Amino acid sequence: MHGKIIFMTFCANAVSLARFMNFSADIGTVKGVGKVKAQYFHSLGVATVGELLRFYPRAYEDWSNILPIERCPIGENVCIKGTLLYPLKNERVRGGMLIAKGSVSDGDSIVSVTFFNNKYITSMLKSGEEYLFYGKITLGKYSAREMLSPMFISVKQSKSILPIYPQNQKITSRQIRSAVEAVLADKTEIPEILPPYILEKYSLVSLDTAIRQIHFPESSLALQNARNRLIFDELFILQLSLLRLKDANSTVKTENKVKIDYTGEFFRLLPFKPTNAQIKAVNAAISDMESGKQMNRLLQGDVGSGKTAVAAALVYTCAKNGMQSALMAPTEVLAVQHFETFSKLFQSSGINCKLLTGSTKQAEKNQIKESLKNGEIDLIIGTHALIQDDVEFDKLGLVITDEQHRFGVKQRTGLCSKGENPHVYVMSATPIPRTLALIMFGDLDVSVLDELPPGRQKTVTYAISSKKRGGMFDYIKSHLDKGFQGYIVCPLVEESEAVSGVQNVEEYYEKVKNTVFKDYSVGLLHGKMTPKKKDEIMADFKNGKIQLLISTVVIEVGVDVPNAVIMAIENAERFGLSQLHQLRGRVGRGTQTSTCILVTDSQGEDTVRRMNVMCSTTDGFKIADEDLRLRGPGDFFGTRQHGLPKLHIADLMTDSKILTETQELALEIIASDPDFRKTEHIKIGRQVIKKINSLQTPAAANTI
Ligand code: ADP
Ligand code: MG
Repeated sequence: MHGKIIFMTFCANAVSLARFMNFSADIGTVKGVGKVKAQYFHSLGVATVGELLRFYPRAYEDWSNILPIERCPIGENVCIKGTLLYPLKNERVRGGMLIAKGSVSDGDSIVSVTFFNNKYITSMLKSGEEYLFYGKITLGKYSAREMLSPMFISVKQSKSILPIYPQNQKITSRQIRSAVEAVLADKTEIPEILPPYILEKYSLVSLDTAIRQIHFPESSLALQNARNRLIFDELFILQLSLLRLKDANSTVKTENKVKIDYTGEFFRLLPFKPTNAQIKAVNAAISDMESGKQMNRLLQGDVGSGKTAVAAALVYTCAKNGMQSALMAPTEVLAVQHFETFSKLFQSSGINCKLLTGSTKQAEKNQIKESLKNGEIDLIIGTHALIQDDVEFDKLGLVITDEQHRFGVKQRTGLCSKGENPHVYVMSATPIPRTLALIMFGDLDVSVLDELPPGRQKTVTYAISSKKRGGMFDYIKSHLDKGFQGYIVCPLVEESEAVSGVQNVEEYYEKVKNTVFKDYSVGLLHGKMTPKKKDEIMADFKNGKIQLLISTVVIEVGVDVPNAVIMAIENAERFGLSQLHQLRGRVGRGTQTSTCILVTDSQGEDTVRRMNVMCSTTDGFKIADEDLRLRGPGDFFGTRQHGLPKLHIADLMTDSKILTETQELALEIIASDPDFRKTEHIKIGRQVIKKINSLQTPAAANTI
């Protein structure tokens, strides 16, 4: 919606592109492509000339590094330059195969070349002429050097690095290369989108050079420059778009205005003194909500930093200002926990708080929906899906989503459009590395809880092998004997999922309950239980009836039982760093020193590194950075859905320098020329509109 508003501002400024290459021309119009091949190009997502030029090579054949035959390593792809010594002759051998053999000399040494089943080879390679050959050299009979089916080009051809495209069964890299070549034969300049002052400041090559060189680089330096330019464009336009979205969000007017700040009153309800970081975060959000504009804010904080209390302060203030709030949690366990925390906090304050989940009985559900509609309920807590459903509010002023890094810009904008512009407050579970946060949450204002509540003891972490499990059990027992509680986490739920050597929670539970821990009360928790059963178990653990909880990662997010001070994680090698950190965050929530024991027999380099990181730091932001380094952005959040937009050429890990540069520049431009009205920014503005549209619709288009 916002994209459209911006679009209208720009239309008047649109310039005609007629005298340039026609990027919107159908791919079928390219010389040598035609109707049939055009279909194949479509299967690669390439329908126009512009999209073809933005279809970048995945690798290159390097014909620029020419080696003397004598010095070529055997069995590796190499490029040699030599003269064909005598004419090739095709001979038919047994089985009907055609073979042509020849000799190539570089002046010092000779290599024999062999081609199979190529009728035309004899006319393609001429005796006495010089060619470049690319392929592997192997040793044949009597250790003679030979190249089988090498690729070749005439030395007269100037291109020395050739592109390899992501091909599919219908269309080969070579065919794509020819099409690109045909398009680029047109030497009309590809129009520049960046003004000279930016090109100069960041030493960028022109877009024309970048596009031509990314396909047919003259040298590896030229290729590097081309890549840098295109990466710059991609990250720059993306960040401008996110900032523009943020701008558009922050100018959305809302009736949901906080008139009186009640946070002081709320803080007196808390059983503890809020940290400075908590106060700062609350104040930032309150002043957003006082402004008459819609709040769109992210709260980042390490596990245990006290995000819930911040949320409660906002809910309290909204309720006292006559607005309803909705709090969405990713799991039922967490929704129930929040419900208990908030009900207790708000007990004597007259704030009406209700829980709505999949397991709420129908009659009660109807009752709750009714009271939500007529405004009797101040705070509704539930899972995401439920609140998005057919639930209606009387005056929804604030939507809080807890523990989510799973939703992208699109889902968030969806949220905003529900109801009459409620304020949006997003709380992230795991610290997110700066580089990723810029991209995922670039459209939000950010608050950070960079301070843990006082008195917290660091959790001591050890990694042990399974041989030491007996000692570990004794250690856990000694804690339970003192009245504390503990967790043991297993990766799998049941035996049927069995992977040899991996603990499943059901079997583990049965075993320890009847042996080592037979004198203790042991509980079992996993995601395949009914929500009701899960609630019962969690309630029993909270009130101390269960001393030791054997669980899967369902306890990963948010569960808060300060009396639990020891955790063992079985098959720790199966968890990513951020997940281990998140699990470990379930202990160390009181003033008692806690312990986390990572059990693993894996000696893999990667595992050892992860265990070392876990044992040496409890700083979530450091761990997140390391996790990102080890796994790369795509896997950072595991198999879960995450909010990262798809990037075409940039890599968030390796291109973080350009990411920072482009962010600074984007901020400057948005501050000085937010509507891209200056002549030098008009074309940038057009790219931004396209990007915003593609961020808000699932099928992102390649644009030029
Ligand atoms: P998270 O940020 O991981 O969601 P929680 O909001 O669950 O953390 O808070 C973790 C624990 O710290 C809770 O038991 C909470 O009551 C406690 N807590 C929060 N803020 C403070 C504070 N300022 N002083 C002392 N304890 C606090
Ligand atoms: Mg939490």
